[in-house]
Amino acid sequence: MSAHIRPAVTTLPAYVPGARPARSDIAKLSSNEMPYPIQDSVLDAVTAAARCAHRYPEMTGDTLRAALAARHGLSAETIAVGNGSTALIQHLLDTVCDDGDDVVMPWRSFEAYPICVAVAGARAVTVSLTADARQDVDALVNAVTPRTRLLMVCTPNNPTSTALTAAELGELLDRVSENVVVMVDEAYLDFVTDPAVGDATTLLAEHPHLVVSRTFSKAHALAGMRVGYLMGEAGLMGAVRSVATPFGVSLPAQAAALAALEPQALAETTRRAGLVAAERDRVVAALRESGWDVPDAQGNFYWLAVGQATTALARHCTEAGILVRPFAGEGVRVSVGRPEENDRVISALASWRARA
Ligand SMILES: *Cc1c(COP(=O)(O)O)cnc(C)c1O
Repeated sequence: MSAHIRPAVTTLPAYVPGARPARSDIAKLSSNEMPYPIQDSVLDAVTAAARCAHRYPEMTGDTLRAALAARHGLSAETIAVGNGSTALIQHLLDTVCDDGDDVVMPWRSFEAYPICVAVAGARAVTVSLTADARQDVDALVNAVTPRTRLLMVCTPNNPTSTALTAAELGELLDRVSENVVVMVDEAYLDFVTDPAVGDATTLLAEHPHLVVSRTFSKAHALAGMRVGYLMGEAGLMGAVRSVATPFGVSLPAQAAALAALEPQALAETTRRAGLVAAERDRVVAALRESGWDVPDAQGNFYWLAVGQATTALARHCTEAGILVRPFAGEGVRVSVGRPEENDRVISALASWRARA
């Protein structure tokens, strides 16, 4: 082939998706999905919307932006919607980064980040997590230079499940100068139970350089519909909307998101997120009981930093009928599933320790 491919593209790291099970009796705990199906009211809305599939959806998702604005007490100008928050993170980087600009990020964190940064032509400056797998706010702030366009954090952090406190978020925004965008990815905020953990949307009014990312993929159980959104200063969000793929939220996806924002659906989402969080706490307590060192988990997943044993542990789990997400040489991320699936994890991890 003779087409020129940008060097930044030929050297992109691979995004490794969570493994997909070959059989239905395998617990798929590899992608941080909800163990519950789509809600009936949301499914009805999707079905109705599909009848109009010969029509384009709204160009920039105005009805959904209005509903999200109402939910968060913001104006629709401060919101951008897209086909998943990962797409929006790409659009945000494409909006603010020139070739060779720096983007500061914690690492290990969401594996899509370095890919998005490279696609935008920017350079990822990674800042190690602390020994207890938390994001190091002081080190992140100190990594900012005049070349930095954007700093991102992820709370709770994928894959370690540790979260930033409200005090840490406040410190980050106060210390990073307002010409650097601070993006806070809150994909898993619905599962947080620690009252010390911050909600970045409460800081939007005071900090024009803050952008908050949310998604319908996790607690709302709509990963397959692909809808996410950003909240931030109106001028910046307008620029993101002009960069974003037109008609990025499909008709069924917008219908699903709107139905998911109805009070009854939201209440059910909150109830289910609570059940998942309770299961998470039950599993983490059981694992610690059997000798595992598990960092404080606030998302719908937990982290086992087994280092060189990662691949072997993932294989052990597969043999026990559980798909997990290994990060070779670093550790294993396990999503919270249904109670019987979680019991299977507890016993598989106990037998691993007994064997090791
Ligand atoms: C799952 C996840 C998202 C959501 O991505 P979508 O594209 O909205 O499905 C965003 N950020 C992090 C850290 C995630 O783990």
